[in-house]
Amino acid sequence: MTDLDDLYQDLILDHTRRPRNFHKMPDATSMADGHNRLCGDKLRLYVKVIGGVIQDVAFEGDGCSISKASASMMTEAMKGKTVAEAEALYEKFHTVLTGPPDETPDVPELGKLAAFSGVRKFPVRVKCATLAWHTLSAALKNQGEPVSTE
Ligand code: ZN
Repeated sequence: MTDLDDLYQDLILDHTRRPRNFHKMPDATSMADGHNRLCGDKLRLYVKVIGGVIQDVAFEGDGCSISKASASMMTEAMKGKTVAEAEALYEKFHTVLTGPPDETPDVPELGKLAAFSGVRKFPVRVKCATLAWHTLSAALKNQGEPVSTE
C-alpha cells in the first residue's frame, strides 16, 4: 500500500499546487458558493450544463490543500458527464470517504479520485474533501430554476 499512498500523496499535492479549472466562468449556467466553517474553506463553483450534460466546471476560492485538490480533481472528473452521472459519482465519492477506516474501498469508477479514500481516517477532513462536490450538487439543483435574466 505504501507505493500507492505515495502516488496518491503526489497526486493531491500536484492538484493543490496547480489546481485545474481554477478560474471564473462568465458563461456559466449556474453557480453555488460553498463554505466549510470547520476548516475555513470557501469556494465558488461554476457549471455550464447544456442539454443535461456538464460542458464545463470551474471553481475559485481559497482553502486547505485537501479542499483545493478535491475541487480540482472533481472538476476534471465531471466534464462530459450527465447531471445524473454527476450525482451518482458524488454518492460514490461520499460513500468511499465515510466508510469504515479499516476497509479498503474498491470503487474502480472513481479512478484517481480514490486518492481521497485515505481521508476517511480523518473525519474532520471529510468535509474539506466533499465541499466542492456538495457545492456542485447545489449548483446542479439550481439549474432548473428560473433565476436567469433572459
Ligand atoms: Zn479544509
